[in-house]
Amino acid sequence: MKNTDRIPFFSLEPIHREIREEMLAALTTGYDSHWYILGPAVEQFEAAYAKWNGVEYAIGVASGLDALSIALKAAGAGPGREVVVPSNAYIACWLAVAATGATIVPAEPDPVTHNLDPHAVVSLCTPQTAAVMPVHLFGQACVMAPLLELAEKHGFYIVEDNAQAQGARYDGRLTGSIGHLNATSFYPTKNLGALGDGGALTTNDAYHAQFARAYRNYGSEQKYFNRYAGVNSRLDELQAAALLVKLQHLDRWNQQRAMLAQRYLDGLDAVPQIALPHVAPGCTHVWHLFVIRTVYRDALRQFLTKKGIQTMVHYPLPPHLQEAFAHLGFKKGQFPIAEQLAQTSLSLPLYPGMPEGHVDRVVDAIRQFFGVS
Ligand SMILES: *Cc1c(COP(=O)(O)O)cnc(C)c1O
Repeated sequence: MKNTDRIPFFSLEPIHREIREEMLAALTTGYDSHWYILGPAVEQFEAAYAKWNGVEYAIGVASGLDALSIALKAAGAGPGREVVVPSNAYIACWLAVAATGATIVPAEPDPVTHNLDPHAVVSLCTPQTAAVMPVHLFGQACVMAPLLELAEKHGFYIVEDNAQAQGARYDGRLTGSIGHLNATSFYPTKNLGALGDGGALTTNDAYHAQFARAYRNYGSEQKYFNRYAGVNSRLDELQAAALLVKLQHLDRWNQQRAMLAQRYLDGLDAVPQIALPHVAPGCTHVWHLFVIRTVYRDALRQFLTKKGIQTMVHYPLPPHLQEAFAHLGFKKGQFPIAEQLAQTSLSLPLYPGMPEGHVDRVVDAIRQFFGVS
């Protein structure tokens, strides 16, 4: 490794190299089975993922977005109902609500954790609220107890977006097992990623599981008899086979992420101009992304680019200012915390198998930019 190597933001190369033989064997078995939709691999993966996540049921679907919208539909979201979502969420969270026809009710996050602030949610609950969607952003679990209390009091559902946080815990419980209905994504770059698109709902509720299982498959429980006007959103056999292989390694890969994150935290602690990720009491973080905040974000980013260090911004424009949601009539300045996070957040390179020497070079470059020796 030369000291001038380009440092990519993310790479699957190290973990894919590590499991290559195992993966190709699983894909070969899938290929040779001649059965590609809703077969034994999906069943096996759903059982394994449910067990790993500490829930009764996991239902594989075609994407995280579909998992969210089907979970919301099961929660009763639709025209005339409301869903509370973070104002700084990924666009999929808002699109999932829009897909049900329910009204999007944005709640400002805690500016330190980037996660939903229960105090902001309280005032937004109405008799029309169908669900509140905590998004465990960047891999850190949301503080769930106050949300669960609100749900109990008002009679709505908690739908966790666990796309970025597979393996994180709140109060000892795994995210994706705490809400009534939960969604996750297996987009290739997630902590548990497929070799294409995929997602899953997780729940302990038998009725909701049955609904989702039918809804993803044209609303059918028995072939050619349709109970719901559903969709085609199925996890396929080859993706399930790939996910089964990767699930066996997920905890270890999450530990590698944590080790690299700690190296960043130690190395950047002495830089007063940046705010480091802050993990709330009772919560854990699985470091899907390592996101710092600084008002010098754009200049720092340019400086790092010049040094061959690739960074990203999650996310540069909050959903309420996206053209796609212009018709909702939200204004600039309406969600100042989300807007400020969009202007100051910077995601540093982090992936399992990333060389520690690369973390050190990123740290050195940031310290150099700020003149910290
Ligand atoms: C990736 C992601 C999704 C959507 O997942 P897809 O599989 O890409 O549809 C939803 N929410 C969050 C927070 C995500 O990071």
